[in-house]
Amino acid sequence: MNAEIIAVGSEMLTPERVDTNSLWLTDELNQLGVEVTAKHVVGDQRDRLADEIRKALQHAELVILSGGLGPTEDDVTRDAAGLALGRGQNYSEEIGGGIEERFRRMKRIMPETNRRQAMVIEGAEILPNDRGTAPGQWLETERGALVLLPGPPYELKSMYAREVLPRLRRMVPPMAIRTLTMRISGMSESALDEAISPIYTRYDRIVTTVLAHNSDIQVHFRARCATEAEALGLLDEIGPKIEVALGENIYARTADPLEVIIGRKLQEAGATLAVAESATGGGLADRISSVPGSSEWFLGGLITYSRRLKTALLGIPAEMIERHGAVSTEVTGAMASAVREKTGATWGISVTGNAGPTTDGAQTDANQAGVGHFFVGLANPRETTVTHRVWPAPDRMRVRAFAAQMALDLLNRKLDQEQPGAAGKS
Ligand code: ATP
Repeated sequence: MNAEIIAVGSEMLTPERVDTNSLWLTDELNQLGVEVTAKHVVGDQRDRLADEIRKALQHAELVILSGGLGPTEDDVTRDAAGLALGRGQNYSEEIGGGIEERFRRMKRIMPETNRRQAMVIEGAEILPNDRGTAPGQWLETERGALVLLPGPPYELKSMYAREVLPRLRRMVPPMAIRTLTMRISGMSESALDEAISPIYTRYDRIVTTVLAHNSDIQVHFRARCATEAEALGLLDEIGPKIEVALGENIYARTADPLEVIIGRKLQEAGATLAVAESATGGGLADRISSVPGSSEWFLGGLITYSRRLKTALLGIPAEMIERHGAVSTEVTGAMASAVREKTGATWGISVTGNAGPTTDGAQTDANQAGVGHFFVGLANPRETTVTHRVWPAPDRMRVRAFAAQMALDLLNRKLDQEQPGAAGKS
């Protein structure tokens, strides 16, 4: 079964509000095996909305609307749905009485406008609202159903779970849906797709979704079959093929991000970590310390943004910074080993770079690395290594996030070399 979702409300056409209901509904519908083929956001205009509903009903068996069921003039969903289906509306004494009673309990008088919420489209089943005044409506259509749900997420979720889900379960053939998740780092989204699309396109019962964020990529393979055994069998078949195609770039067979995987490996090895950040300004420590329980293996770090603090706090010789530049292999390596030694951590990571859009005038010298140049230093008791990378046409915030990701990716790979077969690869 296919579904379309229409979020109603002019506020979601402004830069301030986002339609989150459809994300939540999509997840719920997917779990039932219902594929969402289109989502729309429509302002509070009755005729425009009626038009969108008509089109959605032509394309999908199930159409779910959220919002616009309130009592005011700009709550147009009931009228638009009636118009799209060519059905009238009747006042329901029962709903009207219920809403009046709700107001009485709150020691308030029901405004006359609230009567609009008691209007029911011909043939609709009422979906009671246990968390607000606007009831939902369920309308059977030739091909499936049209469902009207309230906008506030707190009301919508409760109504969906109590009223919509049981009805959908009766309509949708039972299906087993199992998901295989992989996390990938160190390659672009397009390179990843080029590597795996020849594989996943051969499986029509697997839906593949690629989600990329700051060069960290998640891939979900969702198998939809009649039985659980069949779904798991398909995933067992595709999984190893994807592993061959992506190799070392896969850092987890779970949804866990890099910082979680790293934490697990450090903990297993009884090792600790400290950071010395310049260009990322604390962004790296922020990611690491967001992991619950990270105090077990993350000692902390220093944000030595200026040259003066690199020297004062980490003891990097001013002469070294002068000679090579603050963003250089030499200084980055020295920062990683210094933070390791000063904190007593097993591992030290450092990041320097030039996030742009311009180079820092005060620090510009002949050795100043250009915009987009980044260095990551990794120090352990045996050695210190430095990796240099350049991102063209940088956007300051993205490049800083890329650099934090690069630092974690390099550390994770290094941990694999040092502790082969450690946690996280399952
Ligand atoms: P009410 O009776 O509360 O007016 P309603 O069904 O008319 O319910 P709306 O007036 O459209 O709902 O929306 C009420 C509030 O719910 C909005 O201000 C917004 O905060 C939230 N909301 C509405 N639609 C969405 C959506 N698609 N995603 C997230 N939040 C939403």
